[in-house]
Amino acid sequence: MKTLIYGGRVIDPANGLDGAYNLLLEHGKVAWIGTEVPDADETIDATGKIVTPGFIDIHMHEDPVEDGKIRQCIFPMMLRQGVTTAVGGNCGGNVHDPVDYLNIVDRDGAAVNVALYAGHEYFRIAAGAEDIYGGSTEAERQEMEQNIRAALDAGCVGVSFGLRYVPGADKEEFFRAAGCCAGTGKPIASHVRDDADAIFASIEELIEAGRTFQIPMQISHIGSMAGFGQMEAVLKQVEEYQAEGLDVTLDCYPYFAFSTRLGTPTYDPGWLDRYHCDYDVLEFCDGKYRGQRATKETFDEVRAEFPDCLTVCYVMKEEDIRLAFRHPAVMLGSDGITDNGRGHPRCAGTFPRFLSEFVKKGDVPLFEAVKKMTVMPALRLKLHQKGHLSVGADGDVTIFDCEAVRDRATFADPALPPEGICYVLMGGEVVLKDGAILRDNCGKSVRT
Ligand SMILES: [Zn+2]
Repeated sequence: MKTLIYGGRVIDPANGLDGAYNLLLEHGKVAWIGTEVPDADETIDATGKIVTPGFIDIHMHEDPVEDGKIRQCIFPMMLRQGVTTAVGGNCGGNVHDPVDYLNIVDRDGAAVNVALYAGHEYFRIAAGAEDIYGGSTEAERQEMEQNIRAALDAGCVGVSFGLRYVPGADKEEFFRAAGCCAGTGKPIASHVRDDADAIFASIEELIEAGRTFQIPMQISHIGSMAGFGQMEAVLKQVEEYQAEGLDVTLDCYPYFAFSTRLGTPTYDPGWLDRYHCDYDVLEFCDGKYRGQRATKETFDEVRAEFPDCLTVCYVMKEEDIRLAFRHPAVMLGSDGITDNGRGHPRCAGTFPRFLSEFVKKGDVPLFEAVKKMTVMPALRLKLHQKGHLSVGADGDVTIFDCEAVRDRATFADPALPPEGICYVLMGGEVVLKDGAILRDNCGKSVRT
């Protein structure tokens, strides 16, 4: 089966291509790229459209496993955005043994290709260190290391950490887990230990591990860690590490607000000082004040009576997020996590929103934006068959209408699909057309 995509503007940053090319896919791979019009069994008219490698989401949280099967919810949301490879297991967490998870993907398929980090917290708990505030024993550390190494050998792309969520994991434990990547070429990725004004020391902790073991590093969702006035200084700090020869990059989601429940430690006393804000940055998503901004009185009342109330916190500085995306070391990552379609709109809107909010408004040139969504994450994780359109690469292609593309998901309606994604192909097959999913089981595991 030969599929020809013709008439479009092909943007393939890995090969420095941006122009009118036709693309032939065969046997699941890119078979040819050029300006002629070869014969094909199936043709796709991409006139007026942008043709790119399928997008890679380097930072998301995978769907759960129930009764030995993946309950797909966020994977189809990813596909509707043009994502063909989703990287889960972030922030130290796996929802299920990651190697078994990859095997299930290969057995049953998934809406997108799936790569996974081995999550430090997952393996910590599996080894018996269940108290997030408590330390781990030498025996637990040895078991954790052994299982992380086995997961890396079986194809996990690196080791992730959510040090913020495991205060009991000290530097020694962190180093033992990070050291598993030494000599493998695989990165460590971390939701670092603290945010806002504490971000600088937290990043330094990650860097120390990278320097010690000579391993690549990924700083997770920098917008929600340093988007409170620290971004310029953080990016300078990263440049200094790069000048020192360290391999460090970052990801960011394209929103100016985060979302969490009112009862979480995020809103413990001191949060107004931490984020340099007042109560009115907080919007209630539920309950009797739904849709309203908070006051001291309503905050205290709802926190006491309805701690599970979802909130949106409009505390991230728009300028900080724009600054992050303009920096060459920052790539796009959704940090999408969903509970039956509920949650933050980044699950359903990240990639189209990046194009409509940051590319069309002039922060990031389109070519650079495609780089941040394709070849940068592929290089970071050594996904050699993904993120580019060289002959022999996997036939994962996204075709979108640059004028029409936009996110529709909102904090009130976070699962609304985007507009302007015309076609998505995976392994040479059309899996989405005009926003509608035709097949949701073409995804395979991606192992390194
Ligand atoms: Zn995180």
